[in-house]
Amino acid sequence: MPEPLIHFIVPFSVLIMCGIGVKKATLFASLALLPDLDVLFHIHRSFSHSIFFILLFCAPVIAIAAVKHSTMTTDVIIATLVILSHPFMDLFTYFTPIFWPLYNNAIYIVVEMITNMDNVSQVHLLFEIKLEPVMFHHTASIYVPIFTSQGVAITLVILIGLILRHFFLSKKESV
Ligand SMILES: [Zn+2]
Repeated sequence: MPEPLIHFIVPFSVLIMCGIGVKKATLFASLALLPDLDVLFHIHRSFSHSIFFILLFCAPVIAIAAVKHSTMTTDVIIATLVILSHPFMDLFTYFTPIFWPLYNNAIYIVVEMITNMDNVSQVHLLFEIKLEPVMFHHTASIYVPIFTSQGVAITLVILIGLILRHFFLSKKESV
């Protein structure tokens, strides 16, 4: 799985680029961590990674917001998309039960391009959709990274980019 830091920083940066404020973007991006709370029950990549399970909770909230608080509808839809970004990103790192229970296979999409350092014209493109029957295992202990060196590096580059963007935009406005 991408680590929680990556699950957070990707939607956070997208929300900021869409013009959403830092506080609101932080709150929304935190929602992307929810599907991994299944580790608290010693099951990882459980039904919390299914888009149908996520929509089961989010669709009624969207409907209620649309009927009773129309001003909040956009926020609730954004929150739903942020949560859905989690299983989408997981799809590219390991088997994810994204369409469970309608489709009983967990999906893992492998997209890689490899070259030979001795001959860079030798390029191998790998695109594979791997399937595995969905089984929710209860594991006695699960070690999961909260962040890794690579995740920290990516996060720092994105944050520096967002700070620079803020700096340049405020400078442009003051001219
Ligand atoms: Zn996950």
